[in-house]
Amino acid sequence: LVSRKNRQADTVVKVGPAAFGGGNFSVVAGPCAVENRDELIQLALQLKASGVQMLRGGVFKPRTSPYSFQGLGREGLQFLAEARAAARLPVVTEVLDVRDLDLVLQYADMIQIGSRNMQNFGLLREVGRVKHPVLLKRGLSATIEEWLLAAEYILAEGNHQVVLCERGIRTFETATRNTLDISAIPLVKQLSHLPVMADPSHATGRRDLVVPVARAAVLAGADGLLLEVHPAPERALSDGAQSLQPQQLASFMNGLPYLLQAR
Ligand code: PEP
Ligand code: MN
Repeated sequence: LVSRKNRQADTVVKVGPAAFGGGNFSVVAGPCAVENRDELIQLALQLKASGVQMLRGGVFKPRTSPYSFQGLGREGLQFLAEARAAARLPVVTEVLDVRDLDLVLQYADMIQIGSRNMQNFGLLREVGRVKHPVLLKRGLSATIEEWLLAAEYILAEGNHQVVLCERGIRTFETATRNTLDISAIPLVKQLSHLPVMADPSHATGRRDLVVPVARAAVLAGADGLLLEVHPAPERALSDGAQSLQPQQLASFMNGLPYLLQAR
């Protein structure tokens, strides 16, 4: 079902004012984790003013250590809902566990399946049975075929509203957090009709690399970008090192129309 052979036309995934694929390009931005209400609302307003089309923010965080901040859970979903209303932006957030899916569906406009759950087949099947669009990240060490087959699980259950997200893969290189597989963007778009976005934040793990890599992804044909932004990255509870300041995001957004025109 995900194959271009099965369907020639690009799938367009629309989430409120955001749209991915078929010539549509959208930017999803926000903090790695929802941390507090007032900052989230203020950030959402800034992002909206910068031209961002969707707000992101994790409330269930897949942390390597069980002692790291795990996210605000239900309370964070309420903050997301408030920010969504204040800025009039649709919201995407990650579901880690099928037991939280019903709760998250009440708040989110789009469901994120993170890298670590790309092959959580039970979870993939469950999000395949809902109406919400799904943002499916590539697994930490997943091949393109495995990634597309993960998407197939979702489509096979009836949900065809899937956006794929290249977020960097594990390689021998340790200078960056992951290695963005830039060729995956045009290649997956050849193999599949599904939209493909890029996440330069998790791919690089370094704020100074996010903008140049984001530009490369746009020129490689990405249908959207996922960018982590925090009002004060130095005190972020997760992924501060890769989070852009709102001002950096705003200046990237200013140049974006020129990049899109150039491709
Ligand atoms: C995230 O987007 O916050 C996240 C945890 O990403 P990934 O699943 O790509 O590591
Ligand atoms: Mn993160």
